[in-house]
Amino acid sequence: MHDPSSALVLFSGGQDSTTCLAWALERFDHVETIGFSYGQRHAIEMTCRAPVRQGVAAIKPVWAARLGMDHVIDLSVLGTIGESALTREIEITMTKEGLPNSFVPGRNIAFLAFAAMLAYRRGARHIVGGMCETDFSGYPDCRDDAVKAMQLALNIGMAKDFVLHTPLMWIDKAATWSLARQLGGMDLQELIIEQTHTCYYGDRTQRHDWGYGCGVCPACTLRAQGFAQFIA
Ligand code: ZN
Repeated sequence: MHDPSSALVLFSGGQDSTTCLAWALERFDHVETIGFSYGQRHAIEMTCRAPVRQGVAAIKPVWAARLGMDHVIDLSVLGTIGESALTREIEITMTKEGLPNSFVPGRNIAFLAFAAMLAYRRGARHIVGGMCETDFSGYPDCRDDAVKAMQLALNIGMAKDFVLHTPLMWIDKAATWSLARQLGGMDLQELIIEQTHTCYYGDRTQRHDWGYGCGVCPACTLRAQGFAQFIA
């Protein structure tokens, strides 16, 4: 399972991307991270990035040796597009299409494109993202077909042979907790609980057994239910 090449991980500082980071560190000789700043109301996630990276590196010496630079790309232009609860101070509700109104159409397509541009410059062949079709929240560009189509478009458009990895694509939140435990033991599980952030409202005042968050937003609900299943 070890691969002597380099990988770039889409890393937000949340539970899913932290699990993806551990997954990549277990496989690839050199791993860098990329994050996107776009005026999220959960900008608290961005402040989790550095401590989470440090915490993950501290779990295994081989991971520390493999973890390279962090890159933050300013995509604040996304905040100017459309009505978005993630980028404007409005209530998160569901639209008639069944999507949260936090939806920025094509956001993951944009993330993958920018990740590939950076991967090209950094000489990384592998791009790892936490897209997931199982807990499908309605974002069509998180689906397996969308990611596969992007891999094809990027490889044709950049004349490269990038491999897009989505280790969480077919597993649910309970299995994501279990994957983290398998990769990094209790140390990684504790780090995810204490340091990572998923809540749409950026609430870090309430500590639950699964971590910090408001406990009622869609992201908190998914995380809490997954953890309850995982420890059951
Ligand atoms: Zn929440």
